[in-house]
Amino acid sequence: SKWVYRFGGGEAEGRAADVERLGGKGAHLAEMASLGLPVPPGLTIICDACTHYFHNQKTLPEDLKPEVLQGIAAMEQLTGRVFGGRSRPLLLSVRSGARASMPGMMDTVLNLGLNDETVQALGHDAGDARFAWDSYRRFIQMYADVVMGLDHEIFEEILEDEKARLGHDYDTELSAVEWQHVVGLYKQMIKEELGEGFPQDPHVQLWKAIAAVFSSWMNHRAITFRMLHRIPEEWGTAVNVQAMVFGNLGSSSATGVAFTRNPSTGDKSLYGEFLVNAQGEDVVAGIRTPQSITEEGRLASGSDKPSMEKLMPETFKEFRQICERLEAHYRDMQDVEFTVQQGKLWMLQTRCGKRTTRAALKVAVDMVEEGLISQEEAVCRIEPASLDQLLHPTIDPRVERHVLGAGLPASPGAATGEIVFTPEQAVDAEEEGRKVILVRIETSPEDIHGMHAAQGILTTRGGMTSHAAVVARGMGIPCVVGAGSMRVDLRNEVLTGVGGVTLRRGDVITIDGSSGQVLKGAVSMIQPALSGDFGKLMVWADGTRRMAVRTNADTPQDARAARSFGAEGIGLCRTEHMFFEGERIHAMREMILAEDETGRRAALAKLLPFQRSDFTEIFSIMHGLPVTIRLLDPPLHEFLPKTEAEIADVARAMDMPPAFLARRIDALHEFNPMLGHRGCRLAISYPEIAEIQARAIFEAAVAAAKETGEPVELEILVPLVGLRAELDYVKGVIDRVADQVTQETGRNIAYQAGTMIELPRAALRAHVIAETAEFFSFGTNDLTQTTFGISRDDAASFIPTYQRKGIIEHDPFVSLDFDGVGELIQIAAERGRRTRKDLKLGICGEHGGDPASIRFCEHADLDYVSCSPFRVPIARLAAAQAAI
Ligand code: ADP
Ligand code: MG
Ligand code: MG
Repeated sequence: SKWVYRFGGGEAEGRAADVERLGGKGAHLAEMASLGLPVPPGLTIICDACTHYFHNQKTLPEDLKPEVLQGIAAMEQLTGRVFGGRSRPLLLSVRSGARASMPGMMDTVLNLGLNDETVQALGHDAGDARFAWDSYRRFIQMYADVVMGLDHEIFEEILEDEKARLGHDYDTELSAVEWQHVVGLYKQMIKEELGEGFPQDPHVQLWKAIAAVFSSWMNHRAITFRMLHRIPEEWGTAVNVQAMVFGNLGSSSATGVAFTRNPSTGDKSLYGEFLVNAQGEDVVAGIRTPQSITEEGRLASGSDKPSMEKLMPETFKEFRQICERLEAHYRDMQDVEFTVQQGKLWMLQTRCGKRTTRAALKVAVDMVEEGLISQEEAVCRIEPASLDQLLHPTIDPRVERHVLGAGLPASPGAATGEIVFTPEQAVDAEEEGRKVILVRIETSPEDIHGMHAAQGILTTRGGMTSHAAVVARGMGIPCVVGAGSMRVDLRNEVLTGVGGVTLRRGDVITIDGSSGQVLKGAVSMIQPALSGDFGKLMVWADGTRRMAVRTNADTPQDARAARSFGAEGIGLCRTEHMFFEGERIHAMREMILAEDETGRRAALAKLLPFQRSDFTEIFSIMHGLPVTIRLLDPPLHEFLPKTEAEIADVARAMDMPPAFLARRIDALHEFNPMLGHRGCRLAISYPEIAEIQARAIFEAAVAAAKETGEPVELEILVPLVGLRAELDYVKGVIDRVADQVTQETGRNIAYQAGTMIELPRAALRAHVIAETAEFFSFGTNDLTQTTFGISRDDAASFIPTYQRKGIIEHDPFVSLDFDGVGELIQIAAERGRRTRKDLKLGICGEHGGDPASIRFCEHADLDYVSCSPFRVPIARLAAAQAAI
């Protein structure tokens, strides 16, 4: 097998496409070399060698050695230098470079090949002894750190002491003799620390450095980074061995990094920094402040240090041309590293540059207009989830984070405020104009007013579909749920964070609903901006996608927000959510707690006008777009009064003795409310509920049609159907009301009746259910719950453990389980359409806003996805990408 790929002298054995084998750095060095760009010659030891190394007690493959030596011989030819030679010595860099970019996580050694003899030769050749000793001390320091495991700070200390002794402020002030003295001190210290001297044999240096760079794949930093970015351990890193070029060879030498466009704004202007008379690590080490490479950048930063453009105009011109060439070649913004040795430019690295969402949009749109990429490619370049950054304020990535704890990122965006522990405190604060974060163990419908009044919500219990999460997403309020590492003591009004940090009411915290972090204090934020580029890209996305994107909207407010984000209809309007607020909750409770039909009808009569006016408003806002209204599906327990005070309140309102009411609540108690008397079961027990709701819906449809002049495209959704007979029964009730309202108003009422598919039985019997149902809406929250038999409200207590132990890859309530739940969806879609060719299919669970799940929906040939308003742009983009 071949372990080594060479590059240099205008050709290369590898290509950009070989990233898996050569790692990113090696593949793109090869690509640049074969483009004829000035790249110091070198070789890449492939990633498989790293895997081999770890599978064989950290030994390198036998047949690697001759291949590397041949590669070095080729480098000697191309440079006219000799590795370890006593004249014209070839020096090498030994650089890590994995398949995925892991900036700064692994190690690199520069100036390898120097020893007490070659340092003399290097100085002699360059006519600059100072440069040679400076390089040697750099090498010793890096090698001792990477290979010998000595902390680089020990060396910094020696150097600082020497500088103080000599009265120098800057490294650049040290003379050759002074550097030589420092080298002596370094070597002496190594001997004292390790009992062995600094290795003088360049070949020993080389093999140890290669092994050390492979070993750095398993350093703590790299392991953590891989975990965070889901990079498999088996990938391993490649090692690049490359001829050194020197940016520290006097004032016509320099080293720098650049982006071919501005990575934070996306502006088409070269953006970068460089240092004169320096080597690579100086730029990142922050010992000296780098200078801007362009005049424009220098002016913008207000610096008086000359730019590279000014200082070395010829080299700069060449560099700019190379950047343009690389952009045109890769058709994307590049992040490059370069070195200038005595006026001669060398390219050391290129890769696609990381950028903010704003920059990503601008670059993508500009590149379409420049003719570099197609609209479809532009659409594919934007990570859908990253659009969150544009829709909500986000934490400035540059600020330091003091993390108090973490939970699930339930609703995106960041919010800062004082801690309050009750909804009332939140409402009071809002009246006084103070911003607050509502901190609860979990939330319930009674907390809604407080949730509205808060800037953000934090709970210590519950999952992505808990009450707090669903409501916050609907309202577009940042929310973190299930922060299990934090504790809420409601009685004493204390929030305890990790490490026992205690916070009280009024203390300021920041929650990051996009990462799930809870931070101490206020941190600086970046405000959302829906720029013209966003609009352009979304138009292209809309032109590409097949599936429609609807929204889950429970209130007129939601509907309005969703339309502004481009929703093409409502895929789910959960009517019970209309009753969480104010006097409505009282009527709702009366309805639930009523003892008989008369009592229920009385309570329903109070609810009817609320429903009718909400529906009318929603229909008008949606103006002829489809609206799916789900019949009542209340988790009864969420509506029941709990505390004694609440029971007393409700009893007074219902004019019954509290003890009587308490008994009624007991009677309604369910052992497993999520599998209990809910959904269509309620409508079958108490048809008057469906009847009144249908009336409210139809009367509203008539009113809205009058108002807007457009007929309402109405779909009525029956929840939790398992048997076709259930649907038939409920549809019978709705049909009767439709006839009545038609007669009363003289207006024809068109509507479609459909069902949620949220029970495995419904999915399996889809062909039968489709005889009645005209559309299916996959309620994937419940379908996941019922397929797995995992209660979605309790999942948070063990799903993270499952993920940590590798039992499941991701939370199935966040990203659809393709294998199980997905197969049920496919079965239902296929069987349903067998019965009814034009059966409309959509998804309305939280998954409707998850890009991976949306891709699945595209393959399952669904007609639309529906998600919370703030995820609509994400879904539009994800649906477009899925269709490409
Ligand atoms: P990282 O992946 O951490 O960026 P690199 O392998 O890119 O590490 O090396 C860091 C820096 O070292 C480079 O940006 C460059 O300045 C310097 N460097 C690497 N190889 C060479 C070389 N052959 N000649 C001169 N400088 C080099
Ligand atoms: Mg680099
Ligand atoms: Mg459901």
